[in-house]
This record gives sequence, structure tokens and C-alpha cells, in this order.
Amino acid sequence: MAEAKRDYYEILGVDRNATQEELKAAYRRAALRYHPDRNPGDKEAEEKFKEAAEAYSVLSDPQKRALYDRYGHEGLSGAPAPSFDPNVFADFTDILGDLFGFGDLFGTTRQRRPRPRRGEDIRYELEISFEDAMRGTTVEIQVPRQETCYRCHGRGAEPADITTCPSCHGRGELIYQQGFLTIRRTCTHCNGAGQVARRACSLCRGQGTIRSDRKLKVNIPPGVDTGTHLRMAGEGEPGSNGGPPGDLYIVVTVQEHPFFERRNDDLHCTIPINVAQAALGADIQVPTLEGPETIHIPEGTQNGATFRLRNRGVPHLNRSGRGDLIVHIEVKVPTRLTREQRKLFEQLRDTLPAENQPKSKGIFEKVKDYFQ
Ligand SMILES: [Zn+2]
Ligand SMILES: [Zn+2]
Repeated sequence: MAEAKRDYYEILGVDRNATQEELKAAYRRAALRYHPDRNPGDKEAEEKFKEAAEAYSVLSDPQKRALYDRYGHEGLSGAPAPSFDPNVFADFTDILGDLFGFGDLFGTTRQRRPRPRRGEDIRYELEISFEDAMRGTTVEIQVPRQETCYRCHGRGAEPADITTCPSCHGRGELIYQQGFLTIRRTCTHCNGAGQVARRACSLCRGQGTIRSDRKLKVNIPPGVDTGTHLRMAGEGEPGSNGGPPGDLYIVVTVQEHPFFERRNDDLHCTIPINVAQAALGADIQVPTLEGPETIHIPEGTQNGATFRLRNRGVPHLNRSGRGDLIVHIEVKVPTRLTREQRKLFEQLRDTLPAENQPKSKGIFEKVKDYFQ
């Protein structure tokens, strides 16, 4: 059974009176489009590729073309059937590439297809004062990282020594003609750059990158704490082969404050008062992030009592609002008394209840005991 074969001219998309040049150009287009290397696993593309190769093998041969023009596919049945194995083709181009390849610029390991690689992330430890962490600040930091070499612009070649690639004459690709095949390959001598150099860049010694301290302004938002990571996208090490740069992570350490202690977003501080203030009540000054503030301590305030100042704590990181300031009262008993003070305390002793009973447990404790 004869399979319905497509017309060779139709396959290549050319006129019946197409010139050899036109045929070649049409075949090149088809081969580039359907090459198995470009369409891995695509059966249809593989078929199209075979079809185009077969069409070109016939039409590029004047004798076969004449037979085909006159008798169609039948006219070629006497001749051995044109067949084509794309795998053979793939190997063939590799062999060609190896034959014509010249290795890398400076004899480093050859990478035929360098993959884009993302740059490394950089971790930068930053210590800031307690106040800066509370209010937010802008700091200038110097981050050592690899930068694209400014002398050779990352090429790694000594600029004065750069010449047009002798293999591809600056085109960056090589075109091979092998029988009816036209093969284009990235020039392996210059890796497609079109230019080569014999000497490595004197600044980066051919690395294409140099170590440099980069100055960066960093905005520290209010509310950062020890361990906060601030990410600066794209400020890490540069990528290679066109890959994106990594990120910069600023890891914050906040210095201790002499009397504020942070617990989540609340601030705690301890304020001593004397027994008289505790007994009689008093207006006392407490420190806040905004400066001293007066609060009223009611009479009969006990040691360990706490007072909460709303919204006087740490600003929430990256959202509005703040924590609270919690003032812990510590009642100080005087250790040295003047004669007069001693007298007053003696008077107090004689009028105050003795308070020498064992202290009863709190209500909660009693209820617990009852149920046990
Ligand atoms: Zn350089
Ligand atoms: Zn070249």
C-alpha cells in the first residue's frame, strides 16, 4: 500500500521553479525549526525534520529533482529510498562541533552551553542601638561582594587585546556546509561572543569579577529585634551567564538598653519608690521612648505592683500600632535613717497593726485546696 506522501515543494514551502539558493534557505529554516535538539521528545517535529531532509535531499540533486518533477514520488521508486535518522544527524553535528571547536578563551574547561546561575545570597550582620531599633533609622553599610569587573566588563579578557574572532569573523556562529546539510553552531572559539583575547584581564585575572566593598543605604524600619532578617532583593552576589543576582540578608542585633527590657512588643522597666510614696501615693516620673512622663501611683501601692502605659511600647514591625510600657514598682525600705526619721518610724510602728500573722493563701489557692 502506497502511503500518501506530501509534495516535496510543499514541504519546503517553495515554488516549483525555486533556485538552489531558495531551496537551501527553505531547508535551513525547516531544519532550525524542527531540529530534534530544539524539540526534545516531540515526535511531530522529528517527522517534519525527516520530511524536510528527505525533500531537500531530492530537490537539491538535479537528477533526482528532474525525475520527481516529471513523475512525482513514483519517479524515485527505482532509486534507494531516501532515509534519514535524526539521531545520526545529532551525532554528526556534535562531531563537527568537536572537530571545529577550539576550546575556551584561556584553556579553561569547555562549557558548550553555560547555564544561567543565580548569584549567592550574602548575610550581613548589623548591630544597632536600642533607640535606632525603636525609632527606625537609615544606616550606610559596606558589603563586600563580587562585582562585575569594570576593566573588562565581565569578559575576563584584557580590553586592549581583544580582536575579532578568527573562527567566526565576529559573527559568533559558524555555518558548516556538509553535502545538503547546512549547520549553524555557536562558535566554540569565542563562545558566541564574536571576539577573543589572548591575555586575561590584568585587573580580575580573567575571572570577570572583582571583590569590592559596596556602599548601601539600608532602611531599618521601627520595631526590628535581635534576629530580624531584612532582605534586600538583588543585592547579593552577581549571577553568572546572565543569571539573576542573589539577595542580601541583613541580620540585626539590637544592643541592650540600660533599663528598658523588651518582651515581644512590650517594654518593661522597674521604678523604685519609697515606703512613704507607696503608703501615701505619689506622682512619679517614668521614662518612656518619648522622654519622661508623670504617672500617678495611688496610696497603698504594694511592692511589685505594675502600671501599664498603653501604646508606649515597641512599634509593631511593618504594621501600625505599638506595644505597651509596663512599669514595675519596687518599694524600697530605707536602710539608713536619720534620728528624726527613726523617731517617725517608731511612731508609725506603735500605731500600725503588727501584721505578724502567717500570711493566708490567696483566694485561688484556697479554692484549689478545697477541691483536692
Ligand atoms: Zn577584568
Ligand atoms: Zn568566534
